[in-house]
Amino acid sequence: MKPLSELSLDSARALRVVLTDIDDTVTTEGMLTASAYGALEQLHRAGFIVIPVTGRPAGWCDHIARMWPVDAVVGENGAFFFRYDRERKKMQQRFWASPEELKRNRLKLDAIEAEVLGTVAGTALASDQAYRMADLAIDFCEDVPALPEAEVDRIVSIFERAGAQAKVSSIHVNGWFGDYNKLSMAKTLLADVFGIGWDEARASVIYAGDSPNDEPMFAAFPMSVGVANIRAFAHRLTHKPAYITNGHSGDGFAELADLLLRARHR
Ligand SMILES: [Mg+2]
Repeated sequence: MKPLSELSLDSARALRVVLTDIDDTVTTEGMLTASAYGALEQLHRAGFIVIPVTGRPAGWCDHIARMWPVDAVVGENGAFFFRYDRERKKMQQRFWASPEELKRNRLKLDAIEAEVLGTVAGTALASDQAYRMADLAIDFCEDVPALPEAEVDRIVSIFERAGAQAKVSSIHVNGWFGDYNKLSMAKTLLADVFGIGWDEARASVIYAGDSPNDEPMFAAFPMSVGVANIRAFAHRLTHKPAYITNGHSGDGFAELADLLLRARHR
């Protein structure tokens, strides 16, 4: 991971799409700061395609797609994208699974939920679970005291034994049934809505994240950035981001936005 200051304005000039994780990448200590939100807004105004790619639930993503200065949002680790067409006043929603599959998967996730809560002490259902449509989120750090890493691994293995995928974010273990992740849905969104094929995406997209559930994105995009707090997770990452910011969380994201805006205005 090279310091972001080593990314030259010339190489940054080809970038026109900003994909970003939200928790602990745009937000700081669980809050959306004015400077991080302002960074999103400035990028959007400058004509960048701005797309949060998050593990957060459908309920939040409806709000984000509608009200934040963004072009679309990928939620629940790739279970769907939402895009609000402001001119036509239409919310476009695309899910990876059919409504029938979502119902069947929920029954299997309910069984996993019972096993995790019954066997791993100190965990809780994530408080945003009620607004999720495709996944199960187990809290290990948001509203409960942080669990040791071995316990986090136990949660992951319960998901995996049941045949589910599981990813660790900075606050939750998210698990789901279905062959998708943040990357596969981001690719679908870029191609279907923005007409950006994979070769073009690799040249024009920069991805910002902070934790292991961002790894498929770090691996796929040559231009990727970790905010400084990713250092705490570096030992869990096979694919690290190309660059790392000086600032933590939202300050790191603002640092990235500043560099992109300078490259564009030069
Ligand atoms: Mg995060």
